[in-house]
Amino acid sequence: PATAPAPAHPATAPAVPALPTNKSGEGRLQIVNEQQVFSKELPAYLSKWGLLDKGFAYDVVAVFGSQSTGKSTLLNRLFGTTFDVMDEAKRQQTTKGIWMCPSAYSSALVMDVEGTDGRERGEDQDFERKSALFSLASTEVLIVNLWEHQIGLYQGANMGLLKTVFEVNLSLFGGNDASKAKSKDKTLILFVIRDHVGATPLSNLTATLTADMEKIWASLSKPPHLADTRLTDYFDLSFAALPHKILLPEKFEEAVVDLRKRFTDRTRPDYVFQPAYHKRIPADGVGFYMEGIWDQVVANKDLDLPTQQELLAQFRCDEIAATVSEVFATSSKAVRKPVEAGTIVDGLGGLIRDWLKTATANFDVAASRYHAGVYQRKRQALLDNLHAAVSPLFLGQLKNAHKAAAAKFIADVTASLKAPTYDFAEVVTRATKDARDGFLEVAKEVTIDGADWEYQHELDLLNDDLKVIADKSRADETKKLVNNAERAVKRQLLEPVELALSKPSTTMWDKVLTTYRDVNGAAEKAYLSKAKSYNCTEEENATALHTLRSRSWLVLRKKLEEQTADATVLLTLRESFEERFRYDDNGVPRVWKPEDDLEGAYKKARDETLALLPLFATIKPKVDDLLPEVPEPDAAEAEHDAAAFDPDTALVLVTPTRLNSLESRFKREADAAFVEAKRSMVSSVSQ
Ligand code: GDP
Ligand code: MG
Repeated sequence: PATAPAPAHPATAPAVPALPTNKSGEGRLQIVNEQQVFSKELPAYLSKWGLLDKGFAYDVVAVFGSQSTGKSTLLNRLFGTTFDVMDEAKRQQTTKGIWMCPSAYSSALVMDVEGTDGRERGEDQDFERKSALFSLASTEVLIVNLWEHQIGLYQGANMGLLKTVFEVNLSLFGGNDASKAKSKDKTLILFVIRDHVGATPLSNLTATLTADMEKIWASLSKPPHLADTRLTDYFDLSFAALPHKILLPEKFEEAVVDLRKRFTDRTRPDYVFQPAYHKRIPADGVGFYMEGIWDQVVANKDLDLPTQQELLAQFRCDEIAATVSEVFATSSKAVRKPVEAGTIVDGLGGLIRDWLKTATANFDVAASRYHAGVYQRKRQALLDNLHAAVSPLFLGQLKNAHKAAAAKFIADVTASLKAPTYDFAEVVTRATKDARDGFLEVAKEVTIDGADWEYQHELDLLNDDLKVIADKSRADETKKLVNNAERAVKRQLLEPVELALSKPSTTMWDKVLTTYRDVNGAAEKAYLSKAKSYNCTEEENATALHTLRSRSWLVLRKKLEEQTADATVLLTLRESFEERFRYDDNGVPRVWKPEDDLEGAYKKARDETLALLPLFATIKPKVDDLLPEVPEPDAAEAEHDAAAFDPDTALVLVTPTRLNSLESRFKREADAAFVEAKRSMVSSVSQ
């Protein structure tokens, strides 16, 4: 026999002896010891015995009966167990308590209940009551072991024991009132009659025992609502007889083998483990359940089985949920990093759905065997927890999809705007749709049914982003349009203006300003027709047009300043003078002869030319309507070209001082031309 291993350090062993612990060894466990303490090792033993995953596919059988009636011997033979048997030579009494050992022949747990013969030994019936309660709450079959010669001794110890069993059963399964009275929790009592000699047929013994049971039942003081109940509402009685083990060992063995079949062969009509007797405690909850029952029994509390089953369900469902949650957490860990790093994990929703499916399936397999209400509640709580656990992945995926959609939008728009021709509004509309579709595809895939998750908020944020990007892009596009318009204005304005000012005349300004008006009008119209498809606001259009006007004005003004620079004006005057002085009315160069009025011609040409000079001073058309309104400058232009926009100076090109200086410089040039002409005339005369 296995002995407890020697302590590793005997010197440090506690001086005060520890309380006796539950004993174990040879595959059996003392689940309740002499001190009525329940073993902490039962779950570990159930696991060792391979019973934890049996669900309901296991059975429990216990034996009751007087001391030394061969109970342990019977169990060892019937189930291949290893319970202690009294040593014949020493006749020492075996210890009290409840032992458990698995059957070698089926998935049955066998309990050897010692010391249920308190009254026979003159002790109180405390332990008898407790073990009866405990056994009835957990076993399907209660073997009552008795000698043949004990039968009919109605006052005997066995009768007292059975009376206790019946009373205890009523308190357990009778309910508190008539409405709760139920008889579905049945237990089989199997009488095993030992040392059956055979003189009295088993049928007679059976009849006597049955009659005795009925008598005991009738004698019970039952609560009013159970007054009419019958023994058979709660118990089925069954019988077996065994020959004398010592005197007829072979016959005994034969009978035991046959009796064993009643515990293993489901096809037999007298198979004992009928489903109706099962206490419906899932195998993986047996440890917790039995300990709970025993604790209640020891505390002398009312043993309320429904409450015990709910407690058990809560405990086990929590344990099962913890286990599946751990597996779930391990699976989800793998994608946490990529999601946090900003990657859109392909098919993340599918993965999450798979993990959830595995978790709930595993939970269902183990937990659905427990109290239905508790199971459903715990299942929902599990789902809520799992959803909460992966919700950061969901949110991360949405955020990443949002970022990707915005980036794609920018790339799309930028690429499209590089094309030689495009419709900006169409580009934005299409890119917006593509970006949203891309986001929605990811968002819908990763949204789990029943998880109370939504992506609308992230979609709203994305829409806001797209709008900001589109607005910025549109502002850039509008700027481009204005620049284009400005270029067109330059292209169409500069030459006509230069032409007009190089041939000064009194209608010069009307020509310049008519062109200016037409070019401006065309540019604004072109801008507006393009901008129409951009969804610009009135205000944006007004701003753009204002910029355009201000720039056009500056184009004109700059060109005019160029054309009225000193050198240019002098050149223009000189050309005008020379045309008058050096060419005749037919455009033929003059050759001065002595009789020509050189002086008169010179004066005429000079004065006519000088009369043109004031035309350059201010922009002044004949038709007043042509005078443009000087626009407000754009912020950028205001600083550098204040004079161009100041109403006092905007139309002034040449100041009076400069006019004077130009006049005298021109005169000097004209005088030089005259002197030269005179000289050429003199020289032609002298030839
Ligand atoms: P328990 O105290 O009820 O568990 O009884 P045990 O199994 O320890 O056996 C008590 C004594 O009865 C032992 O000495 C056994 O050898 C003896 N015994 C076992 N089976 C039988 C039987 O069928 N008939 C008789 N007469 N004695 C038996
Ligand atoms: Mg025994």
